[in-house]
Amino acid sequence: MYHDLPHNARFWSFLFAVDEDLAEIARKNACPCGGRLHCANYLRKPKGTPVQLPQAQCLRLSFCCDRDGCRKRVTPPSVRFLGRKVYLAAIMILISAMRQGPTPRRVRELSQRFKVNRRTIARWQIFWREHFPQTPFWKIAGARLTPVVKIVSLPYSLVDAFLRCHPPDVGWTQLLRFLSPITITGGLKIEVPQ
Ligand SMILES: [Zn+2]
Repeated sequence: MYHDLPHNARFWSFLFAVDEDLAEIARKNACPCGGRLHCANYLRKPKGTPVQLPQAQCLRLSFCCDRDGCRKRVTPPSVRFLGRKVYLAAIMILISAMRQGPTPRRVRELSQRFKVNRRTIARWQIFWREHFPQTPFWKIAGARLTPVVKIVSLPYSLVDAFLRCHPPDVGWTQLLRFLSPITITGGLKIEVPQ
């Protein structure tokens, strides 16, 4: 059912636009010290992307405080990158979900295309099975979902919940947005906004 990621470049540039919005919110919030945030993006080299991403879209949007003595880096949530992982969040979610879904056979094909090895996938499984459910993010967000979504396994149940009733572009965007609070350093501790 959920065999693939959207291939069209428009989807990936839309995700970038969502990240720009998230970055703008962070910039307006300023540094916790009260200093102004200056643009300090850095280039990432995501592995095995489904479409050839222009270099600008490989940027992790980020800021640096301009106040002397602080100079703290502030990196907003992202719908494209999950923490320090080099793969795009969508690939990590899709491949992990498909291992649990009704068609695990396709996993080999996908992991070849996205150049993900078995050890990496095994680490992702541990992340979803052991770490993710323990996060304060999931304790709150999961509790809000469970009245409507039956969580059998993660992340398959999430993919199913978000993509079942929507076209892939829309479903993926909503799912990545939902998970975006966990994409920042220390973000696994961040609570979902009400
Ligand atoms: Zn500061």
